[in-house]
Amino acid sequence: MKRLTEDQIRQKIARTTHIVVEQGLARSSDGNISARLDDERVLVTPSGVYKMDMMPEDPVMVDYAGQTLAAKEGLKPTSELGMHLEIYRQRPDVRAVIHAHPPYATALTLVGIPFPTDYIPEVLFALGTVPTADYATPGTPALGESIRELIKTNNCILLSNHGAVTVGKTIEEALIAIERLEHAAFTYYIAKTLGEPRALPKAELSMLYELGAEMRKG
Ligand SMILES: [Zn+2]
Repeated sequence: MKRLTEDQIRQKIARTTHIVVEQGLARSSDGNISARLDDERVLVTPSGVYKMDMMPEDPVMVDYAGQTLAAKEGLKPTSELGMHLEIYRQRPDVRAVIHAHPPYATALTLVGIPFPTDYIPEVLFALGTVPTADYATPGTPALGESIRELIKTNNCILLSNHGAVTVGKTIEEALIAIERLEHAAFTYYIAKTLGEPRALPKAELSMLYELGAEMRKG
C-alpha cells in the first residue's frame, strides 16, 4: 500500500476527528486519534482541543517512546497516548488507532453486557470478536495495560465504563470499525426495548467469522 505523506495523514486525522464527533461517537474534547507516520514517528491528536476545531496542523508528532518531536505551540499529546503506543508495539500491522466514547457501546459496559456480536452478520464478519477490557483510569499507564493482551488478537475493544478503541491498516478502517461498533450497539439497544433479540445460528456465526478472517488480518 502506498504510504501517505505527513500532510495527507494530518488532513485525514482532522477530517476523521470531525466525523467522529458528527457521528456522536465522542463529544467535546473527548477521544483521540493517531496514525503511524513511519517506523520512528506517530502523529496523535493533542489533549484539550475541542474536537470540532481540530486542524490538520494540530496533531503532535511523537516517537514510539512517547517523546514529543514536534508540536504546535501550546499543544501536547493526548493523555491517552500510552494506550496508542502500546497498540503499535503489540501490532506491527496496525497503522491507525481511534479511541472514542460511543454512548451505546460504552453503556453496555456500565451494566456488564458483553458486546453483541451474534445478531448482525457484518459485526462478526467485519469486526470479529469484541472483548471488554477491565476498567482502568483514563490517562494512566493502566489503560495501556488493560488492552495489552486483548489487542493482540482483536481490532475492536470496549473499555469498561469509558469507551472503545478500534484499529486499522488505515484511518478509514479504524473509523469504519468504530462506526459499525456503535451502530450495532444501537441496533441491539432498540431490539432490547422491543423484545428479546434472537442470535443467528451457531453455524452461521462461525461461517461469518471465518469469511471475515482474511479481511480483518493485517
Ligand atoms: Zn477516553
